[in-house]
Amino acid sequence: MSDLRYTAQPATRTEIPRPKRGEGQWALGYTEPLNKNEQSKKDDSPLNVRDRILHTYSKRGFDSIDPADLRGRFRWMGLYTQRRPGIDGGKTAVLEEEELDDRYFMLRVRSDGKLLTPATVRALGTIGVDFARDTADVTDRENIQYHWIRIEDVPAIWERLDASGLHSLEACGDSPRPFLGSPVAGVAQDEIIDGTSALEEIERRYIGNPDFANFPRKFKTALTGHPSHDVSPETNDVAFVGTVHPEHGPGFDVWVGGGLSTNPMLAQKLGVWIPLDEVPDAWQAVASIFRDYGYRRLRSRARLKFLVADWGVDKFREVMENEYLGRELVRCESPASPTGHRDHIGVHDQRDGNKYVGIAPTAGRVSGTLLVQLADLMDEYAVEGARLTPYQKIVLIGVDPAVVDELLDRLDAIGLSARPSAWRRNTMACTGIEFCKLAIVDTKNRARDLVTELEKRFPDLDAQVPDGITVNVNGCPNACARTQVADIGLKGQLVMHDGEQVEGFQVHLGGATGLEANFGRKLRAHKVTSAGLDDYVTAVVTNFLADREEGER
Ligand code: SF4
Repeated sequence: MSDLRYTAQPATRTEIPRPKRGEGQWALGYTEPLNKNEQSKKDDSPLNVRDRILHTYSKRGFDSIDPADLRGRFRWMGLYTQRRPGIDGGKTAVLEEEELDDRYFMLRVRSDGKLLTPATVRALGTIGVDFARDTADVTDRENIQYHWIRIEDVPAIWERLDASGLHSLEACGDSPRPFLGSPVAGVAQDEIIDGTSALEEIERRYIGNPDFANFPRKFKTALTGHPSHDVSPETNDVAFVGTVHPEHGPGFDVWVGGGLSTNPMLAQKLGVWIPLDEVPDAWQAVASIFRDYGYRRLRSRARLKFLVADWGVDKFREVMENEYLGRELVRCESPASPTGHRDHIGVHDQRDGNKYVGIAPTAGRVSGTLLVQLADLMDEYAVEGARLTPYQKIVLIGVDPAVVDELLDRLDAIGLSARPSAWRRNTMACTGIEFCKLAIVDTKNRARDLVTELEKRFPDLDAQVPDGITVNVNGCPNACARTQVADIGLKGQLVMHDGEQVEGFQVHLGGATGLEANFGRKLRAHKVTSAGLDDYVTAVVTNFLADREEGER
């Protein structure tokens, strides 16, 4: 059985009345599982499934897998069954999960903001080529995501990842999901503070730690010391955002309770100052509050954002201080508003005289072969390393200024441009119906075709709208590609067309993160078929450009 219980020993217990009807909050004494997910985690720690994969399932094959592991605990190893090909989106809600299951897996590998050496990029590419039918997408949580993985191959893949210092542990599940770190940490000229050591320490202490492996649901972490706030801190459960205290100097504010999906909420600022070496303790405190006080009755209310919304930030900070840290946090004005573009596309100066170069795959679609080609170029031009970004992009770090122009041409030739069109730069897409069991519509291919068409229809958008127009394509309401914070957010659903249900999207318009963070408006009348998407976006953009005021997004 999982040994995960309420363990905080409060110095001063904040008065929190026990609700009449339990929400499954461990700290209030509701430790009995209230749904099948909670029961499964209590029956056996999800971390134990690793040994069964290595020693039983990979040797005996797919049919030997216990269903409770297959559809539950496998996620803690970064493994999901992928969608069986040929099932249309209309069946998503009506079929049982096992009917949607393929015998192949999606495997998510976390990068946690690490600098990937050329050898590591090559290793990631060859895993895609050798085991994943040449798939290897870059996700908006800085992961590499493979498809078509056979259970028999998982031990060999993990061995190769291990040799590169990477892993898939807790890349899914009710766990500390992959961290978003600033892609330009330690190199950007305008960086406030480099948080790399804090992320490394959080990973070392807490990933794979049984005390932090059973949260009410997923727990997303982001950390950046860059003034552009380049890790989408508004949409994470906990985010550490670089700020400068007038007396103490650079440190981090803590933002809590962000999350999209249904009931989207932007993270709220605690208004504190945490020095770099205390960030892991602060992470532990926030994670512990979520574990102990998070709602476990209903999965739909089990994210930290609901607790933060009910408590408010003052009470959240008080509980953090009184029950988990045992001291008061230093108060500090929240960090200055973000500046600059967050995706780091193009060529930029590093502090050490080298350059960093942001390159743009289309909607995160990469392949094993492409990663190997990228590794070849990194070797040839002595590039120090690469980082993945929360915008499905890649940033090359440590490029010699003398070779930049030639390298850019070579990158263009393999489809990884540092000079992409505004559309290629600003379009993201989730996994969608190709592989995701929850999907209703195709996303990656649709986004690619949309980008190609918009590049023809609006070739000069860069000149007209310097910040571009963001388009986020999602295959269902779960908003993995952040529907609500795009200029044009697309949420996959079936829509009526000529009396029939066809693939389409509910549109959200005018969302943003950063300086003007807010959710796009869901316009009921704005539902568009997938086939009509090019024309719909064209109409919206044409009208926007016609009426646009100077500087308007
Ligand atoms: Fe799957 Fe929906 Fe997430 Fe897209 S948004 S990856 S379809 S769960």
